[in-house]
Amino acid sequence: MNNDFFVSQYNELANKKLKRMKKHIKIFDTTLRDGEQLAGVTFKKEEKIEIAKALSDLGVNTIEAGFPINSKSELEVVKEIANLGLKSKIAGLARATKEDIEACVKADVDIVHVFISTSHYHLEAINKTEEEVLAKAIEAIETVKSYGLNCIFSPMDATRTSLSFLLKICKEAERAKADAINIPDTTGSIHPTAMKRLIRKLRQLLKCELQVHCHNDFGLAVANTLAACEEGIDEVQVTVNGIGERAGNAALEQVVMALHGLYNVKTDIKTEKLAEVSKLVEKYSEVTMSVNHPITGLTAFAHESGIHVNAVLKNPKTFEAFNPEIVGQRRRIVIGKDSGKAAIEKALLQFGYENIDKNLLIEITNKIKDLAYEKKRIYDEDIIAIAQEVLGKAKREKPLITIEEVTVFTGNKITPTASIAIKYKDEIIKSASQGVGPVDAASKAIENAIAKEVKIKLLEYNLKAITGGTDALADVTIKVSDENGNIYTANAIDKDIVMASVNALVKAINDALHYRSLKTQ
Ligand code: MN
Repeated sequence: MNNDFFVSQYNELANKKLKRMKKHIKIFDTTLRDGEQLAGVTFKKEEKIEIAKALSDLGVNTIEAGFPINSKSELEVVKEIANLGLKSKIAGLARATKEDIEACVKADVDIVHVFISTSHYHLEAINKTEEEVLAKAIEAIETVKSYGLNCIFSPMDATRTSLSFLLKICKEAERAKADAINIPDTTGSIHPTAMKRLIRKLRQLLKCELQVHCHNDFGLAVANTLAACEEGIDEVQVTVNGIGERAGNAALEQVVMALHGLYNVKTDIKTEKLAEVSKLVEKYSEVTMSVNHPITGLTAFAHESGIHVNAVLKNPKTFEAFNPEIVGQRRRIVIGKDSGKAAIEKALLQFGYENIDKNLLIEITNKIKDLAYEKKRIYDEDIIAIAQEVLGKAKREKPLITIEEVTVFTGNKITPTASIAIKYKDEIIKSASQGVGPVDAASKAIENAIAKEVKIKLLEYNLKAITGGTDALADVTIKVSDENGNIYTANAIDKDIVMASVNALVKAINDALHYRSLKTQ
């Protein structure tokens, strides 16, 4: 079994018995055709083109780009997609009529997908006999083949068609040189065991490629697709996110990952692109995926409860069937009412808070949990605000350096010089420095005094006068970095420019020292 997956060993035992299952299965994507038939979904031309390119990059073997007879603009889009030079083959849908097939030919498709109703429900509705339908189907297939194009034939509502007629029309279609026969479960009304039996019968009868097209009316589209695959399907018809008529189609991402992970069957899909393509289709279809949508949903790899988070942080295999990275997803440790310290510590690490003191971490955890009980979702900003509040309080309780003395000499005849004394851990440190001006000299003296503890680099210095005269208050804002690239900003106001600057710098240094002390506790 593939090492990317941590799935049940019982699959392997079962898979050994699946003698007819193909080792490699092709993917036929109909997001742009069946997907667009979902009520309320309309893709713009540019969106269709972008989706087609993304599907081709994803590794889809066939893209059903549309139903060219539908409208002039539909034909144009299909034609444009067919002429993009994509790796995927391009298919167009057609009823079993000359006009529909000719529209596909005009759209430059590689494959014409011809369908005709075969179940008694449909025959009654269209007032046709089985013989009439059979004749039309064969004529249509022959028409497609006369243009030198590939032909997929679909007996619509196959899963509610009498077996004798279904076998007959499929055999005749093969005789008429259809390249593939697709079995649509048009109303999603078969179950997996019955699907297996049906496909087994068809597989015994037919030499041509077999496809399956499942709908999700009972939530079984993926299960039925896989059951059909077990009996020798060559190519599966699916849509991204499972969008499609009514309850939708079998979802591409779910079928592909089940084939790879549960059956060890290969496809040409680059699975690491699944999340991205899923997002693209979600955006353009405006059909929002449920958060717990398998594979590509927001919470598909999210863990909140303390027990799960603890286990997953130690070993993701405990509560995951495969690594999220292989489908372009990421593991999310969700902070909420069920979160434990480990999850919160991990979340804080993402925001740069390392090695937080145990008691402070408990305080932060409790505050986040309290908030989670009041609020459904905890956002990153909430976590940061709480951490700052708790850690900030700790900061104020623990002043690290204070200024004891500052003396500066300046004038037009001397090099500006500053001497300072700071108190750090009950020790007085003295230092002196020259500079281009008094502020520069004082800043350098302070930086030198603390250089053993933290190497501060001034990145920005802003000075403004709060009022107008020479007795104005100086308002200084500085931005500094430490040797690890952490950035601190601080502000101070004083009637003396030098003291405002010195105080701002000392504040920033205190922040840096405090941060360091949190990390080393
Ligand atoms: Mn369909």
